[in-house]
Amino acid sequence: TYIVTENCIKCKYMDCVEVCPVDCFYEGENMLVIHPDECIDCGVCEPECPAEAIKPDTEPGLEQWLQINTDLSKTWPNI
Ligand code: SF4
Repeated sequence: TYIVTENCIKCKYMDCVEVCPVDCFYEGENMLVIHPDECIDCGVCEPECPAEAIKPDTEPGLEQWLQINTDLSKTWPNI
């Protein structure tokens, strides 16, 4: 799965949301998250993010952000 990380906070670009084929982005007040169970791992959103906030969860050190994406995508609205 892909997840959204720290650089997304206060980023105003939404290009990632537009390209996602399965609409698995969820929106909070200051950032977006990806629902890890809905993401099909296609990778098309990653290069669309100018803040380089979207990363594969296989990247080392992102365990906390995977948890954050998992938890917040259950409570925030789908966009
Ligand atoms: Fe959507 Fe593909 Fe990005 Fe997953 S990797 S969030 S399915 S665009």
